[in-house]
Amino acid sequence: MSEQLFSAPGEQIIIIGAGMAGGWAAVTLRQSGFAGRILLLGDEAERPYDRPPLSKTVLTLAEEPAPAYFHAVERYGELNIDFQGGARVEAIDRTAGRVRLASGKSEPYDKLLLATGARPRALPIPGGQHALLLRTWDDARRIRAALAGAKQVICIGAGVIGLEVASSAHQRGAGVTVLEAAPSAMGRALSAEGASYMEGLHRAAGIILRFNQGVMGIERHAGGYRVNLADGTSLEGDLVLAGIGVVRNTELATEAGLTVENGIVVNDRAQTSDPAIFAAGDVTAFPHPLFGRVLRLETWRHAQNHAIAAAKAMCGDATPYDDMPWFWTDQLGVNLQVAGLPADATLTILRSGKDFAAVHLDADGVVIGVTAANNPREIRAGMGLMKARVKADQEKLADPAVGLQTLISR
Ligand code: FAD
Ligand code: NDP
Repeated sequence: MSEQLFSAPGEQIIIIGAGMAGGWAAVTLRQSGFAGRILLLGDEAERPYDRPPLSKTVLTLAEEPAPAYFHAVERYGELNIDFQGGARVEAIDRTAGRVRLASGKSEPYDKLLLATGARPRALPIPGGQHALLLRTWDDARRIRAALAGAKQVICIGAGVIGLEVASSAHQRGAGVTVLEAAPSAMGRALSAEGASYMEGLHRAAGIILRFNQGVMGIERHAGGYRVNLADGTSLEGDLVLAGIGVVRNTELATEAGLTVENGIVVNDRAQTSDPAIFAAGDVTAFPHPLFGRVLRLETWRHAQNHAIAAAKAMCGDATPYDDMPWFWTDQLGVNLQVAGLPADATLTILRSGKDFAAVHLDADGVVIGVTAANNPREIRAGMGLMKARVKADQEKLADPAVGLQTLISR
């Protein structure tokens, strides 16, 4: 994008939330030619860093790693981005065009980007506060320290957090039990076949998975923690972790009168119901042209690419955001990648190769998702099928000898 598109030296853009979306938006604003002041406000102390290592290498490496920052501190200087950590925004005054910080300071804005992300849902049971939660660098360090002496780890929730921490705890030599309220693992993100593959992986490693398992309370005692279950039994552990989903940080938007429907509602250019205010990343509910409905994604690729699209839109770019949903998870030595929306599928076709691979179809036979273990090529080709809205021959889809990429033009 050229400098002419948007250049306003006296203007100020404020980004609330210095996570992945906030960090990428700040850099992209400058690269897109915004010449005014960029103020990046985050309530965490750290400048934007990558969260995926928090449930993986930060828990498993022998030496504690440093946070994986997206940009060197010098980059903020070069790009003249004013990052302020420990700076919590408490309110947005849309009439005055100002935000108020917890410190009492207030700052004017011409345009605002909400990149406030999400926070872990707390476990709503007696003693729920004993369960560790994982979102931030500080959370990960706390869990890493607790894992050091842990022999028995209990993970409540068999979503991505529960299973990635289970995998890391197993790698650290602890016995692990995962308790899940639903009947399957990662049920929101995977097809039934994908969920069953992940379940098999964990069981084969000796991790105990208990589905349809109500958890009634957690007690702390001298030797650790007792988790009381709905069937009247209990489990003992040295560390209890809860990964039972997130709550989007929408309060600022709601209080400012923006449209919020379990996520800040934005259009295909990341613009909220107020044209001067944009939002990006986990906190949003956005329309996806390919899938024809509103999505709420909580994934790394979306946080980055939605933020880049939002920053460009703030600089006048009218390109609609249509990035393909995609995430990966690393568990027990397997890299599982998922593109599209497998949980929406009416039919899943397994490709019976060495590792798990599946193509997911909607009721019209159109490819709407691909899941593959240790096979990024399959995912890339699957994305091509989805973009082309291919209705491929099901026998060919099931045949691992037929490359998915060869089906795109047929
Ligand atoms: P966040 O990362 O939540 O950042 C929002 C920031 O805004 C936070 O720092 C928050 O404290 C701050 N904030 C909120 N309110 C205010 C306020 N009022 N004032 C100031 N600051 C505020 N995705 C994958 O695809 N693959 C993975 O393997 C993967 N692993 C993950 C592992 C972990 C442990 C976690 C937690 C997430 C993982 N993700 C993964 C998901 C991915 O990291 C998230 O989707 C992404 O971080 C979302 O970025 P965001 O900027 O939208 O939100
Ligand atoms: P998820 O939504 O993935 O999973 C939460 C799981 O916990 C669901 O299966 C949920 O079941 C279950 N659950 C809810 N309440 C209870 C309960 N009371 N007892 C037992 N189980 C319960 O969220 P996570 O917490 O795993 O992840 C949090 C965030 O971190 C997400 O935004 C995620 O995208 C991100 N993340 C992503 C990773 C990746 O992509 N690789 C890795 C780690 C984190 P139900 O669905 O029935 O409510």
